[in-house]
This record gives sequence, structure tokens and C-alpha cells, in this order.
Amino acid sequence: MAIISDDEGIRKREKKNPIIKPENIEYDNTFENSIRPKDFDSYIGQSALKETLKITLEAAKKRGKPLDHLLFYGPPGLGKTTIAGVIASQMGVEIRITSAPALERPRDIIGILMSLKGGEILFIDEIHRLNKVAEEILYPAMEDFTLDMTTGKSQTAKTLRVPLPKFTLIGATTKAGELSSPLRDRFGMIHRLEFYTKEELTKVVQRTAKILEVEVTEGGAQAIAMRSRGTPRIANRLVKRVSDFAIVKYDGVIDEKVANESLDILKIDKFGLDTTDRALLNLIIDKYDGGPVGVETIAAALSEDVRTIEDVCEPYLLQAGFLQRTPRGRKVSPEGYRHLGIKMPSMQTSLFGE
Ligand code: ADP
Repeated sequence: MAIISDDEGIRKREKKNPIIKPENIEYDNTFENSIRPKDFDSYIGQSALKETLKITLEAAKKRGKPLDHLLFYGPPGLGKTTIAGVIASQMGVEIRITSAPALERPRDIIGILMSLKGGEILFIDEIHRLNKVAEEILYPAMEDFTLDMTTGKSQTAKTLRVPLPKFTLIGATTKAGELSSPLRDRFGMIHRLEFYTKEELTKVVQRTAKILEVEVTEGGAQAIAMRSRGTPRIANRLVKRVSDFAIVKYDGVIDEKVANESLDILKIDKFGLDTTDRALLNLIIDKYDGGPVGVETIAAALSEDVRTIEDVCEPYLLQAGFLQRTPRGRKVSPEGYRHLGIKMPSMQTSLFGE
């Protein structure tokens, strides 16, 4: 139950969360939004997801009904927001993009829900950070397309059931495990986005270079892909950084040599680890004999936020096999030692059965 929000509040939030037409998903002018794929063909990889979605979308269109609520999870930069935009454009509907931390007060979420039109998509990023009150407002909204609202005070309070248009909620999270089960259960489809292969990232690099009108050879694209940590957002940023080097220091073309030299200067190693990743592994090795050590201790020692360590650094280090998560904390694996060129202490070696 929630308090009816005032019109002024809704208008203010309208400004903060404008309705976005899929073709104008560049709701701000950042580089990232300018290169976001708008359809399934330009959305590279994630083939299992695309196939399922195509069928689900087709079925929803044939039935003339809005799409089921969808939840996407996985590390940042893998294309959760992008796929939501692709879905909106394929369904020919508008999408409203917001994130859980922006929905602090009940009236924030109520304002958005009340201004949605039938069939529209509401995208909530970082949905695991939604507060309890906002979650409870969402339950009947997702299930029955209604808002349960209270007007008046104590004894004179009345409960109103306000119908909402049938909308689709798309939630995105880096931490599916932190979603409450009642919220998780209300999604008709839950899908984990995977890290991209080198071949897929090579295509991402080539596509971005084409949009930026930068020439890249096959070898140059592969070299950037190798160091992109399985993540298109990183691949795109590296294309931009390397193209700056190519223009200033070379003849403007990104070939393998230009890519590798530029990325070495940027201190991104051949597995895509940057200075923070290496500092994290070195810290565990130097100060904690390779681990295990708790993530809070690691974050404090590196002066980083725990969330950054958990959401940004760790997923790839774990996937690449350089780090291991144990009940007692994080440990550097034999591969992690090898990658840094450090000999593993014999005590650790026997623990890993090396
Ligand atoms: P997330 O929401 O998972 O953090 P985004 O959807 O914002 O990630 O994607 C980050 C950037 O990566 C986007 O700007 C987009 O250009 C690019 N990107 C993501 N997924 C793909 C993909 N499948 N194909 C091509 N580019 C992609």
C-alpha cells in the first residue's frame, strides 16, 4: 500500500524519466548510447537469448498481448539495457528507463507506473536495490496491473485499487541472488547474459569501428577483442581509446601492432586485466599469502567500493580462473599466480593439488 502521489511530483519525475521512443534510445548523448544496437541483427552473440526472445515476441504479438515481465542478469556491460531497447523496438512500443536507486520514495514508482501506456516497457536497472516499499507497490502492478493506494489518514484512511495499463517490466541486475523471491517469481522469464567469445567481441569491435568511421584490420579487431574481458562495453571503450592512439601516433588505421602497443600503454594486459585487477591479485598474494581473504578487506586495502570489486572486477577474474571464491574469502588460483609471473608458495600449491 502506498500514499497517492501528487501531480506536481509526477510531473517532476516525468521530466527525470522521459518516455523514450526506441528509435531515440540515445536518451543522453553519451558515446555508449550512440552505438547501442537497435535490432536483433546488430545485437551480436547471446544467440540462445535472441532465439527465445524472437519466439516470445512473436507469440505476444499474435495474441495481441503485452510481453511477460522479463529479468536479465549478469555482470555490467553485457547488453541488458541494450536488449531491452531491442525488444521495445521489435514490439513497436516505447520504453521508459530508470534504475532502482532513483525510485527511493513510493511516489517515484507510482508516478512512473501511472504514466505508462498500454504495452509500454518499464526498464528498471539494478532492480536488486529496490526498497521494500517500492517492491510491494510492484507486486500487484506486475501481477494484476493494479495499484493499491491509501488516501486520508488513520481512521479515515481508504484503500483504492487503481487499474494500470498492461505494461511489461524488464528488470536488470548484476546480482540475481539478492532479489527477493516474491519479486523474482513474478518474472515470466529469467535469463542470464553470458560473457562474449573472442569471435563475438571481434564483431563488436568491427561494428563500433565502422560507426566511428575508423579503419580496423581483422588482426587489430582480434587484438582488442582479446583484451575486452568478454564484455562489449569494454570492447567499445577500447576501440575509442585505441583509435585516439591510431590517429595521433600512427596513420589512423588500427592493425594488430597499433592495437597491442596502445593497449600496453593503457596498461591493459593480454587477458584484459587492468591495473585494479592486477592490484587486487597482487594484494591477496603479497599481504594474505594468496588468500583466502574477505572482500571487505580487499576493498578497504584498495580504497575501492565493495560493490565495484564484486560487480566489476571479480566476475571476470573468476570466469578467467584467476580468482576463486571460497566460504572463507577470495583466493588467487594457480592460473592467477602464473598470469602475474609469480611462483606459488609450496603450501598453496599443495592445497590446489598442483
Ligand atoms: P548492461 O545494461 O548489461 O550494463 P548495456 O546494454 O548498457 O549493458 O551495454 C553496454 C554497451 O555495450 C552498449 O553501449 C552497447 O553498445 C554494447 N553492447 C552490449 N551488448 C551488445 C551486443 N550484443 N552487440 C553489440 N553491442 C553490444
